[in-house]
Amino acid sequence: MMKKDTLITATGRDPDKNFGIVNPPVYHASTVTFPTVEALEAATRDPFNNVYYGRYGTPTTFALEEAMAELEGGHRAIACASGLGAIMATLLALLDTGDHLLMVDSAYGPTRKVCDLVLARLGIETTFYDPMIGAGIGELMGENTRVVFTESPGSLTFEVQDLPAIAAAAHEKGAVVVLDNSWATPLNLAPFELGVDISIHSATKYLAGHSDLMLGIITTTEATFDKVRLTSGLMGGCPGPDDCYLALRGLRTLGVRLARHQETGLALAHWLKDRADVARILHPAFEDCPGHDIWKRDFTGASGLFSIVLEPRSAKAVAAMLDGMERFAMGYSWGGYESLILPADPRPLRTATEWRAEGPLIRLHPGLEDAGDLIADLEKGFERLNRNG
Ligand SMILES: *Cc1c(COP(=O)(O)O)cnc(C)c1O
Repeated sequence: MMKKDTLITATGRDPDKNFGIVNPPVYHASTVTFPTVEALEAATRDPFNNVYYGRYGTPTTFALEEAMAELEGGHRAIACASGLGAIMATLLALLDTGDHLLMVDSAYGPTRKVCDLVLARLGIETTFYDPMIGAGIGELMGENTRVVFTESPGSLTFEVQDLPAIAAAAHEKGAVVVLDNSWATPLNLAPFELGVDISIHSATKYLAGHSDLMLGIITTTEATFDKVRLTSGLMGGCPGPDDCYLALRGLRTLGVRLARHQETGLALAHWLKDRADVARILHPAFEDCPGHDIWKRDFTGASGLFSIVLEPRSAKAVAAMLDGMERFAMGYSWGGYESLILPADPRPLRTATEWRAEGPLIRLHPGLEDAGDLIADLEKGFERLNRNG
């Protein structure tokens, strides 16, 4: 068995079929032509396993899907136009009117909106649950519970979930376990070894890694593939070939980038931990983080993204800190080479649990810059914070 660092360079490409050229070509296609009626009909019968029509994917899409399925250790992967598109396609594929969904309370905000604003309208009921519930998930499961959706660690607050315990309880009642695995990437968590049935990535983040494209990936078991592929295909949200190519190119350097993101993230977090104006570090590698022991058991490393809770400070003081940052830019998303910082309030995004914190929450995405330069920028930010009360 190849180690993942080797696999990441070898998978999803075949120079022998491509004039010896290292990377697969970018195929731009809508129409695919067939020489005979027989060939046309054969492709039509099985559109997901042929180059058939641009919307169903081109060899560029398939190369990315092959690479992700191998890296995740799943059966097959499906590329979607965005991470949220991947989440929506998966939930619509698995749930019918009258079904029940268990959704983690620390889910990515727009994932919650899919439940509240789309699934509810279709007569699909969602119960949000405490990310730390573990095997207790079994008690929330009814006859009609079809899906348990997990995200580990959670968005903004980084609770690490006990996936094997959740999967065991879910499978006992016949439900499918879906994981949003965007934070860990395929390099730091092997979802299918932990009992997950479907793993989703916002490839927009670390996989693409350069803040220049939107892409989602769904990787499934053999048993769940056909259903998810059908719905995702019929939703029509196919990614463009250039974006698939760029994501595949980003993937080749994921190992070195992620190691650096981890190292810088830990350096920043350790520096922040010692400050009197920082109340808590929300980083799975820190003992304060709920589920830290689970992270040590199930993950092989951390990526860079984490949050801090400040001691009580006014909104004006936080704005003074963030408005003046020079190395950290403010903006949504993460996973690119450049550092980002974001104020966030988890309170409106929690219903099963209550978010209680000493002060405001700030999320940091350390990029690939020098850690000392980033710390110097933060230090000046804290001076502005404290000057403004
Ligand atoms: C960004 C994000 C998504 C959505 O991905 P897009 O590619 O932006 O649609 C899903 N889950 C998590 C955890 C994210 O951070």
